[in-house]
Amino acid sequence: MYCGDSHGTDIEHFWPKTPYPERMFRWPNLLLCCSECGRFKGNVFPLDAGAQPLLVDPSEVNPWDFIDFNPDTCTFVARYDLATEAPSARGAKTVDLLQLDRREALEAGYRKTHRRILALFERALQQSDVDPDALCQDLSEADDHGLLGWYLTGTGQHLSPFREIRAKHPKAWDVCVAALT
Ligand SMILES: [Zn+2]
Repeated sequence: MYCGDSHGTDIEHFWPKTPYPERMFRWPNLLLCCSECGRFKGNVFPLDAGAQPLLVDPSEVNPWDFIDFNPDTCTFVARYDLATEAPSARGAKTVDLLQLDRREALEAGYRKTHRRILALFERALQQSDVDPDALCQDLSEADDHGLLGWYLTGTGQHLSPFREIRAKHPKAWDVCVAALT
């Protein structure tokens, strides 16, 4: 959860157990995260005006509706919300609290994963015909950081070269969206 790194080593209470002991043993409140995310989050749990969590729970919502991946810097940022013409409040809070925009080890991992995924998509763009299942499998194997949702359902789908791949291989694209997100 949260950073997308695959070192989910800690059981994390989404609603922290000290201020919310009544939720301690509820299954939906137990998530798997890495030690660093767990440490940054601690007992901090910001709520909005309606007492709803501001942090993005990736088991409840598509995090790419709130968080964006910047392929140039290979960091996470809050997604720009067209309705409010401002960065998503939930995305901004999540990125800030978990420091998703300034963790160097993560950045290196995202960069590596992004390069691999980009190369697969670029190869698909060169091909006249793509085997949807093979593409799915290759993408799934390349994604060490849960980034595929960004390309397939987030901002990535509107950017080059991903929008061109979607236009050229719509069937393969739909198969990947259905299987991988
Ligand atoms: Zn993490």
